[in-house]
Amino acid sequence: MSLRDPVSTPRHSRDHPKTGHFQASKRLLGRKSRVSTSQSHFPKTTFLIYVALISGLGLGLAACASESANNGQRTVTNDIPPVTNTHYPTPSSKVSPTLPSTPTHLPAASPTPTPYSPDVCIYAGHFHLSRPIAPSGVDVIDPTYRYGSTQDGLRETHHGVEFVNPQGTPVLAAADGMVIVAGDDYQIPYANYPGFYGNLVILEHALPEVEGPIFTLYGHLYDVQVEIGQQVKTGDQIGEVGFTGWATGEHLHFEVRYGANSYRETRNPELWLRPHHDENNEPHGAIAGQIIDEFGTPIYNAPLTIEQISPENGEILAAYYLETYADWTVNGDDNLGENFVLGDLPAGHYRVSFVARGLQVYDVEVQPGQVTMIVFDAREQGE
Ligand SMILES: [Zn+2]
Repeated sequence: MSLRDPVSTPRHSRDHPKTGHFQASKRLLGRKSRVSTSQSHFPKTTFLIYVALISGLGLGLAACASESANNGQRTVTNDIPPVTNTHYPTPSSKVSPTLPSTPTHLPAASPTPTPYSPDVCIYAGHFHLSRPIAPSGVDVIDPTYRYGSTQDGLRETHHGVEFVNPQGTPVLAAADGMVIVAGDDYQIPYANYPGFYGNLVILEHALPEVEGPIFTLYGHLYDVQVEIGQQVKTGDQIGEVGFTGWATGEHLHFEVRYGANSYRETRNPELWLRPHHDENNEPHGAIAGQIIDEFGTPIYNAPLTIEQISPENGEILAAYYLETYADWTVNGDDNLGENFVLGDLPAGHYRVSFVARGLQVYDVEVQPGQVTMIVFDAREQGE
């Protein structure tokens, strides 16, 4: 559970396309149909590369978007039933991720939006964290209260995810690390108020794949089984599920913080937790997206439908319903700047639908262990 944090800075600015630890292994695999509007928003003659600084950790990177009338390879990549205005841009230039050693909050490169093509790219995921619950328990997140959501306004904007398990279920370290908090938060708050997490553990990790520190937080524990300063290994038991603090039932609240151990520095755990595998032992992937209105502001609480589509007959195999992040108090990934994520998806074909200047429909592909990123910027949509 989370509290509102009105002093946080918006992190979803459209002026911040990102790479970084999403390596520049981008491939454009997707197409979009514009159902209710007709003007093409894809420039056909201009090679567009949009490079800007991001606010989060000051990473420079190339945008997902590029297209060249001369060089563009318009290759059909899936067999989803036809849509109009298909778009298969080529990857933009590669950018070496050079990360600063300490987080630096930089302003946007330019206050003026640089036009570029909205599109769909696939990035290598940074799924470096193990699940904090063993497979014998419920090791999937509660889909009704995702990161950034409010459960239809019933609860505060969520800065973590829930693993709903009975009291006493072992809680496991998500990575090698050091215990920096072990106890409760009744005296020292780790959110906006004391007593929010109840009994909690916070681990600090120095992952070889990640620049800068990353923290994992385990809240509402029944008991804490580690001590401050203790080194733990991935999978070590650090406590047990409970419902201490502001918990409405027995569950683990799991949080990822990046760059600093701060409530304002949370990230979406769905982009960090190692995915499950499908029946072919291929890791799942994820869909993320950035939906921006005509003022360059993230669209909050926008309902999305994501359907898995059979490539053979177009049949809907599964459907997921979620919303974009509820407000500015939760952060997008430093590289993606997303405002929604649906993780742990079996590889395959998906259709993403939402309303922003009309019904928008993207047919995309999810690949094993990859993040498919959709960008919709209403400023690029014409009149
Ligand atoms: Zn929670």
